[in-house]
Amino acid sequence: MLRFAAACNYCSTAVIFVIATIPALCQTALAPGTPGGLGPRVFDASLIDKSVDPCDNFYKYSCNGWFKRNPLPADQTSYGRFTELYELNRLHLKQILEAAAAPASGGARSANEHPRSANEQKIGDDYASCMDTAAIDKRGLAPLQPELDRIAALKSTAQLPALLAHLHSIGVNAFFGMGSNPDFANANSMISYYGAGGLGLPERDYYTRTDAKSVEQRQQYVAHVRKIFTLAGEPEAKARKDAEIVLAIETRLAKASLTITDQRDPQNLNHPTDVAAFEKELTHFSLDEYVTAAHAPTAGRMNDAEPKFFAEFNALIAETPIAEIRTYLRWHLLHAYAGTSLPASFDQENWNFYAHTLNGAEKQQERWKRCTSRVDMELGEALGQVYVEKYFPPAAKQHALEMTLAIEQAMDKDIDGLDWMSAETKVMAKDKLHAVMNKIGYPDKWRDYSKLEIVAGDALGNQMRAHEFETARDLAKIGKPVDKGEWQMTPPTVNAYYDPQQNNVNFPAGYFQPPFFSDKEDDAANYGDMGSTIGHELTHGFDDEGRQFDKDGNLKNWWTKEDEENFNARADCEVKQYDAIEAVPGVHLNGKLTLGENLADLGGLWLAWIAWLDKAETAHIDMAAKTDGYTPDQRFWIAYAQQWCTQTRPEQLRTQAETDPHAPDEYRTNTVLEDLPEFAKSFGCKNNAPMVAPTACRVW
Ligand SMILES: [Zn+2]
Repeated sequence: MLRFAAACNYCSTAVIFVIATIPALCQTALAPGTPGGLGPRVFDASLIDKSVDPCDNFYKYSCNGWFKRNPLPADQTSYGRFTELYELNRLHLKQILEAAAAPASGGARSANEHPRSANEQKIGDDYASCMDTAAIDKRGLAPLQPELDRIAALKSTAQLPALLAHLHSIGVNAFFGMGSNPDFANANSMISYYGAGGLGLPERDYYTRTDAKSVEQRQQYVAHVRKIFTLAGEPEAKARKDAEIVLAIETRLAKASLTITDQRDPQNLNHPTDVAAFEKELTHFSLDEYVTAAHAPTAGRMNDAEPKFFAEFNALIAETPIAEIRTYLRWHLLHAYAGTSLPASFDQENWNFYAHTLNGAEKQQERWKRCTSRVDMELGEALGQVYVEKYFPPAAKQHALEMTLAIEQAMDKDIDGLDWMSAETKVMAKDKLHAVMNKIGYPDKWRDYSKLEIVAGDALGNQMRAHEFETARDLAKIGKPVDKGEWQMTPPTVNAYYDPQQNNVNFPAGYFQPPFFSDKEDDAANYGDMGSTIGHELTHGFDDEGRQFDKDGNLKNWWTKEDEENFNARADCEVKQYDAIEAVPGVHLNGKLTLGENLADLGGLWLAWIAWLDKAETAHIDMAAKTDGYTPDQRFWIAYAQQWCTQTRPEQLRTQAETDPHAPDEYRTNTVLEDLPEFAKSFGCKNNAPMVAPTACRVW
């Protein structure tokens, strides 16, 4: 289910919490080389700006050197240490793909080289087809014509269910989304999940805000839709009218959708019903025909995540002329394929609106980068298998697991020490903690792509078949027990997540690399950086959203009323703290939207700190001894801060402040540290220093 449906082709089905939001349309280029070719370090003294007082602005103190060394490149909307590693991983993937693509791209394989495996054929041909812009330009819109014809053949809303089922199967985000998701009441059971969708702007508030910038963005969006219609062959006047129709339909859908803040409360998304009852609600849309065409269950338990949205959808299709519905569907079809599968004019216009206008990028990324990311999305576990063999040795996996266990032990100790939680709730919290499953690096069982056909020279067809494969795979899970071994991220991903319905933490191999983690650096650096991330994901199990799920992943309250009140009062301190931050002129952070991430940042760093102190004690580390001029404590905090060094364009910062549950990186550093007196002590900060909060917030 597309929880954040907008411009994302393969959104995850679960309500999961990630460490960072990496915008799919605005990824970045490799920064100018690291001096000396030593590669990035977890703790890097050369990045520190000693002209800044660490008690004034620790972010600038820790990162100014990195900023100087890494000017924001033109094709970037933001560039930070996540993107630094992301780009390095992408280079590694490119090498794998070029080797696999050799026959299709014309390069000869040497006689003693083994023939390509089935997976190599798929990743290699998918990549080479995407790279072949001459063939894509030459074919023009022809590969999409059968789909355009299907939409043109829609004569009445009675035919809509079957058409929509087909469009959904090929990744077109029209009206709503349907997929599998664990039952909120029974996390072991997969049921069908119907969620709001159908928007072309990032989220619903883009359609409703009335400030000048938002009004301008809507006008720019309409101009973009018009341009795409024109490129598809519509006369200018018709394209203009059609773009207004798209905006009108989407505005209606948006107004009936939950805000992104309201979506954060799982109770707001939990409306179990069954297919027969839902069918009765949808008086103008035959659900039976839809599910039959989609090859989804025609009966049984399901979740109508947003009943208000579906009531509006039902009314909308009854009241909207069929020609307007065709227009709306045509837009979403073109939009879904406008990236790497259609001619350069579409690709360019798609970039122009989503990366340039909305996020400030000045130059489009090179083709190989986008094609590499595409194969990672479409065949991530085939590509990831080779990646892991090369870049994630068993020793790294073992080290990562040891750190994860140490952070979990720290949380056990932390729960013992909480003065605001009753003994009764502590028992429940510990039960949940002890039940957390740790998934490190990559899946135990790799995904089987044998049923996905990838054809050399057919970029659009490959994208379509990849969507069909993924939809079928997803829907096949309904009615079956939940597979907790499955991953929502591919192995080379630079990110991590906690899944509240499975109560597991997931750390892809692509993240356990410098500058976030290194076997060659000391524990102070690794705990400050990767340790805080592990703590972050673990704390998500106990943030305002995650705490509503029990140890088995069921949405079930295990808190006493008094403990719940204590939690909320403490969390409220953080809501106020972040509400007060003005990220760009006129736009404040949303304390409620970012609460879960802020709780996870603060709790996670605290857990890493406890684990690191334990580790230092066991290893008899001399806490007064300096390395590179810094004590072990100071190195811990600097490594934490240096993971967040990021430059961001104002346009992207604005989008982030309005839509992202993560606070911008500067605040993920400074605001978090301001709440920790242990940090102030390590740097001798006075009580009235900017890096010391007058009233420190603390939950975990
Ligand atoms: Zn998070």
